[in-house]
Amino acid sequence: MPELPEVETVCRGLAPHLEGRVLVRVDQRRPNLRMPFPPGFVERLTGRRVESVRRRAKYILVHLDDGAVLIAHLGMSGRMIITPERPDSPGKHDHVVFETDAGTIVTFNDARRFGFMDLASADALGDHPMLRTLGPEPLGNAFSGPVLAERLAGRMTPIKAALLDQTVVAGLGNIYVSEALFQSRLSPTRIASTVSGAKADRLAAAIREVLGRAIEAGGSSLRDYRQASGELGYFQHQFAVYDRAGEPCPGCSCDVAATGGVRRIVQSGRSTFYCAARQR
Ligand SMILES: [Zn+2]
Repeated sequence: MPELPEVETVCRGLAPHLEGRVLVRVDQRRPNLRMPFPPGFVERLTGRRVESVRRRAKYILVHLDDGAVLIAHLGMSGRMIITPERPDSPGKHDHVVFETDAGTIVTFNDARRFGFMDLASADALGDHPMLRTLGPEPLGNAFSGPVLAERLAGRMTPIKAALLDQTVVAGLGNIYVSEALFQSRLSPTRIASTVSGAKADRLAAAIREVLGRAIEAGGSSLRDYRQASGELGYFQHQFAVYDRAGEPCPGCSCDVAATGGVRRIVQSGRSTFYCAARQR
């Protein structure tokens, strides 16, 4: 599933191909993804110039010259593929195909169809049902230790669950929550409301750092993609603890035979990876 850094990478990959370009043709190849496409989807997009490609949480926001915004979510398996010309025959899971006045083809492919696309007015973007309740953007200027502490205050759930709650912080998924808790030396089982003061500062900084590092890795992959398939959305990245159960902890010089190394536990049905020695 694409996480925030991958969505950011997709936006950065799309921007140079879409910004300033007119969408001369839009093919919608089925009536719905996870939800139906909005009425008049093709008509409302065709002929519009793209002003900017932005990201909010894990949503791709394509701002158009008539004040509308195309909201796209990659769901579980969605990807954007950029090609210099239209493929001879569309792939089975190529659900939407955009063509710009430069002749570039952007294909939205989504095998599992958990993604969605919608149109909203830029003025009312914040009222969109998918965006309305989102917490602060973790890479935005408004996100800090005190802001995080305020949003965690009074929450009696484990910090792991609180960070996955999109109303607390927007766009964090399972992988980067494990990574940020490891980086900030906070136990995933700690009660959320106890993360305040210096702990909240440490956690906010760690969230920014792990996301920032992943986006850098995505940037490198983007340079490779330009040469390769034109496919945006997924890249290889090394994690400190995620999916590394039983491996030596990269933060301690602990004896794996004695400690068991990185632990995996299940919280709210999702795997959490952490070091019990380092994270308290
Ligand atoms: Zn450790």
